[in-house]
Amino acid sequence: MVTSADLPHELQEFRDTLHRFVANEVEPYAEEIERTNDLPDALLKRAAELGLCGLSIPEEFGGMGESELASSVAVETLSHGPGGVTFYLAPSAPAAAIRLAGTDEQRQRYLPQLASGETFAAFCLSEAGAGSDAAGIKARAVRQGDKWIINGSKLWISRARRAGVFLVSAVTDPSKRGAGAITVFIVDKRKGVNVGEPDRLMGLAGSGSAEVSFQDVEATDADVLGKVGGGFEVLKFILGRARLWAAARATGICARALQVSLEHAQTREQFGRKLGEHQAIKLKLADMTADVYISRMLLYRAAALYDEGKDPVQEVSIAKLYSTEAASRAADMAIQIHGAMGVSRAFHVERLYRDARAYRILDGTSDIQRLMISSNLQRNGVGVSLAPGGLA
Ligand SMILES: Cc1cc2nc3c(=O)[nH]c(=O)nc-3n(C[C@H](O)[C@H](O)[C@H](O)COP(=O)(O)OP(=O)(O)OC[C@H]3O[C@@H](n4cnc5c(N)ncnc54)[C@H](O)[C@@H]3O)c2cc1C
Repeated sequence: MVTSADLPHELQEFRDTLHRFVANEVEPYAEEIERTNDLPDALLKRAAELGLCGLSIPEEFGGMGESELASSVAVETLSHGPGGVTFYLAPSAPAAAIRLAGTDEQRQRYLPQLASGETFAAFCLSEAGAGSDAAGIKARAVRQGDKWIINGSKLWISRARRAGVFLVSAVTDPSKRGAGAITVFIVDKRKGVNVGEPDRLMGLAGSGSAEVSFQDVEATDADVLGKVGGGFEVLKFILGRARLWAAARATGICARALQVSLEHAQTREQFGRKLGEHQAIKLKLADMTADVYISRMLLYRAAALYDEGKDPVQEVSIAKLYSTEAASRAADMAIQIHGAMGVSRAFHVERLYRDARAYRILDGTSDIQRLMISSNLQRNGVGVSLAPGGLA
């Protein structure tokens, strides 16, 4: 399965419904979202009614129990609209981590409130001194009697502004670095989590990004996600889904950039001909088309492997790397094809460009993906699958 047309019929219908939702119910809020750097309550309420917050959460916890493929198609489609919206109205990596690594008690406690959109979950890893180097975090959880006391400050935390549940990575064994040193805790905001003012990013308005600080926040063993010292195993679930959905967001931007460019090229005339009849524009449209096709193929393949119960680390990194780079290329070409309209704030082409840029940084930069792909390749060899070093 490689193209949109190859998706099962019900998934194509689902995608078409979401396209209409974005065009009719999200885009009208685009200017307000840019201006306020927040999402309107009415939009969040509507998304909750449609079940979008619980797409990949099992039905027994109030979600829709959709496959990773369906969730990826949803994120891709929602990404035709303002990028910040996809951080709330789509499956989130911290919710996926609770679903995949949580105890029954944790799943029962948190998943229903996340599925209903009553609250949101944020994942707190990055710090002032630790971005790509996750093992370098300084946040500490210290054992005191039967409790853990968490202190530390985290940066660039998506959804933080509206989150009620925080997954925080903290060092529990400072004698180690990396494996065994870090534990992920699930913390309710009411335990004393402080959220700063919204970050003003160049794109992704309304994604709720902010600094989050923990000062003497108490947790118990029941709040540990996975095992004490098992933070890196939990990160595998969080970053795996985060990268998959970053690839989905980027693929959506790529497809939208192509769509608006094609429409423009087929309507605007210069030198007595449609833009699309000029060879230089044809070449751009061809490159964008190839990028959409390849990005989708990589995304659907990686998502399908998750649905088969595999752990497609290599495929996810390749999808994230390729599609986020392609989204920036496509958005740039879309601006070029639109000329002055492309850089005008009165149209949304420039928004695609600004939204796309952050995807090459979050959830592991492009160069970090390259390093991981190369390490996997050298550890596992070329293999027989399309993805060198990946699953056969
Ligand atoms: C929109 C957005 C949302 C985010 N959401 C979250 C969130 O919800 N939770 C969270 O915890 N974090 C979040 N982040 C933070 C994100 O994970 C980090 O920005 C990212 O991991 C990169 O870290 P850094 O910004 O500190 O850059 P650095 O790690 O300082 O990297 C700077 C540059 O150096 C390069 N570099 C670093 N190490 C190497 C190396 N070994 N070899 C070669 N090059 C290297 C990088 O590729 C990059 O180009 C978000 C960031 C953004 C932009």
